Amino acid sequence: MTAPRLCIDLGAITANTRFLVDRLSPLGISVTGVSKATCGSPLVAAAMLSGGATGIGDSRIENLARLRGDAIASPLTLIRSPMLSQVDQTVRDAVISLNTESLVLEALSNAAIRQHTSHGVVLMVELGDLREGVAVDDVVDLALTVMKQPGLTLAGLGTNLACHSGVVPDQRKMDELSRLVESVEAACRTTLSVVSGGNSANLEWALSTSDVGRNNELRLGESILLGTQPMHRRPIDGLRTDAFTLVAEVIEAKRKPAMPWGQIAQASFGHQPPRRGTGTINQAILALGRQDTDPDGLTPPPGITVLGMSSDHLVIDVGDHNVSVGDEIAFQLDYSALVRASTSPFVSTALAS
Ligand SMILES: *Cc1c(COP(=O)(O)O)cnc(C)c1O
Repeated sequence: MTAPRLCIDLGAITANTRFLVDRLSPLGISVTGVSKATCGSPLVAAAMLSGGATGIGDSRIENLARLRGDAIASPLTLIRSPMLSQVDQTVRDAVISLNTESLVLEALSNAAIRQHTSHGVVLMVELGDLREGVAVDDVVDLALTVMKQPGLTLAGLGTNLACHSGVVPDQRKMDELSRLVESVEAACRTTLSVVSGGNSANLEWALSTSDVGRNNELRLGESILLGTQPMHRRPIDGLRTDAFTLVAEVIEAKRKPAMPWGQIAQASFGHQPPRRGTGTINQAILALGRQDTDPDGLTPPPGITVLGMSSDHLVIDVGDHNVSVGDEIAFQLDYSALVRASTSPFVSTALAS
């Protein structure tokens, strides 16, 4: 098999989805599986759907187009505000998009009319994290303008916290979203079918609250894929954290001095963490670099330490392990390392058996 490769255990992804769906569905909350960290992998999307996700969300329309081409029949949602230059693709490949801009809404409506269809809109509300969202005071007005667009259907409201500023999705924030839903419904004389309360960071709230209010959907990526929750990056009880591993191949294995010698200036990517120790170490180089993943997000096997990474070389101290050229070493990944590995053209994917 080729290296580097990202090994995916689809069974773990299905099991994680099933675990979360089983806990959220009694609360009236459905799960949209978010595939963006896997670059919209159709296999991952299918695993999420077989675990009970009701649809798939991705932030790139290109990924949704690939999923649609791969015969994923469940509803696809574009979870980033569409680019004005991509409204036609958005209408073609997503049934719903998350929106905040009236200019984009008008263009989406025109695109939908051109394609003889109707496009669903979820308006994102700014509740303090300061990434995407319409100000609370402007939501009703924007909802009314969506109602007037002949190519659009107002599907609902949503919010996204804990992404840009780390604002916690707590009961107060979720109650605020529920209240806004009622205001919009009263002003627009309609019922909103989607109230999309947030991402994996919402699980702590959702699984402990006695009142979900009007919230009926979560968009879940990290929790399903890595079994962790993004606010503290801690594993979530009951979820598997081993769905992905990144395998790299050793291209040099030598005993080398622990410390470099000569005058020391900057390395290729700024200052490397200082090497320590005396004497010699068992050092190995893997054919894996910053073009392939995020070195800070890799967890090596026990007894192995990452010493540094440049574009194409990962240098490790293998300790007492007996490592030779051609051997493979497998790492666990965090979200950042997973995103980079999934999008690197040099990293292949393989299914764990
Ligand atoms: C990435 C993203 C999600 C999924 O977030 P996770 O923390 O991976 O669950 C949900 N909603 C939006 C808008 C996103 O951009």
